Amino acid sequence: MNAAPSLPAKKKAPDIQVLRCLNPTCREMLAYEVDSNNVLYVDLAWMARQAGELRYFPCPKCGGRNIVEPIRDTKGAVKHQVARFEPKA
Ligand SMILES: [Zn+2]
Repeated sequence: MNAAPSLPAKKKAPDIQVLRCLNPTCREMLAYEVDSNNVLYVDLAWMARQAGELRYFPCPKCGGRNIVEPIRDTKGAVKHQVARFEPKA
């Protein structure tokens, strides 16, 4: 089987891209799919690390944090957006 872990089948896809580190000088590819607004396409926010209230995807290259924040889409469903970047402390 050709296992594609995240995407079920070909639907009419919005434009899906691979998440890149939000650090403009880094741009490392991270293993998450996002749409053009950096909203997680497959909601893997549960995989994010937690530090207090903060959820983030650590960047393996620069060590910074790509902060995940909950948002609501137009239908009121909760999704998660990679909203901002915090450099390594
Ligand atoms: Zn980075």
